[in-house]
Amino acid sequence: MAAERAPTSHDVALSFLSLLTGSFSTPAAENPTVAMVEAAYRDLGLDARYINCDVAPDALGDAVRGARAMGWKGFNCSLPHKVTVIEWLDELAESASLIGAVNCVVDRDGRWIGENTDGKGFVASLRTVVDPAGRSLVLLGAGGAARAIAVESALAGVASITVVNRDRGRGSELAELVSGLTSASFVPWEGVHEVSADIVVNATSIGLADAEAMPPVSLSSARVVADVIPNPPRTRLIREAEALGCTTLDGIGMLVEQGVVAIRLWTGMEPDAALMRRTVEELLAA
Ligand code: NDP
Repeated sequence: MAAERAPTSHDVALSFLSLLTGSFSTPAAENPTVAMVEAAYRDLGLDARYINCDVAPDALGDAVRGARAMGWKGFNCSLPHKVTVIEWLDELAESASLIGAVNCVVDRDGRWIGENTDGKGFVASLRTVVDPAGRSLVLLGAGGAARAIAVESALAGVASITVVNRDRGRGSELAELVSGLTSASFVPWEGVHEVSADIVVNATSIGLADAEAMPPVSLSSARVVADVIPNPPRTRLIREAEALGCTTLDGIGMLVEQGVVAIRLWTGMEPDAALMRRTVEELLAA
């Protein structure tokens, strides 16, 4: 009987070229996305990599050209590149164009297409606890995350969005942006905001890396309370909402679901969201 031997390139079509994806941001070292996405790639049996890159603002153009030169399939963009990256792209998908920011880029036949998966990720996460269609939504904040959430929630059919923000210019601009898609209004954030809506979303950075920070709101009439802050996931807002009996949704859900959308765009495959969530939870608990 012939001795067993390892397959050679004569037996099977071997490829040593991985599908390349990654992220451009700065600072980048604390971004857990690489671990979450590569866990999903391994689980799918894909020879694919996700490379987390710290890219300074004045190096973004070189990074995007470099990704194209190296045949990357796509990349995420995080702070501070979500708006400036647009000048290096060939086309924007509908929601990225409405939001005015891109957090995910995909190569389609040699063209870089800018997508925004933040809002889609938020809505996918929200749908695990409630269908947003026909509900009223109070949105705390009017920055990049809030813009993405407002546009995608409006496209998902919410009945109304009330934008509550400190900076009046940014807040009223966001309400105006989505007023063509749903009933929208702006309320300046002065003192404690009394929430009167089915769903309230904290899309500010209050609570990031500070488990005791609390947005100044009274939650008594909210039914679903969502936070975008992934770290720590059990923010004070989430804990207080739970104590009031509200249904809650943490920021890990949005982080995972925007990654799911990105992996679909880059690979055409459906990753295991539960595995991705476990990976992030283990990292944040460590
Ligand atoms: P921006 O800087 O664009 O916006 C920050 C927003 O927070 C602004 O509306 C700002 O209000 C408001 N804000 C900040 N501090 C306060 C305060 N003390 N009181 C009241 N309002 C305040 O940030 P992003 O929108 O990009 O990000 C916001 C958060 O969302 C971040 O913490 C980020 O980690 C998180 N995020 C989570 C994601 C996920 O997947 N879970 C994805 C993307 C973001 P004003 O306009 O008045 O200054």
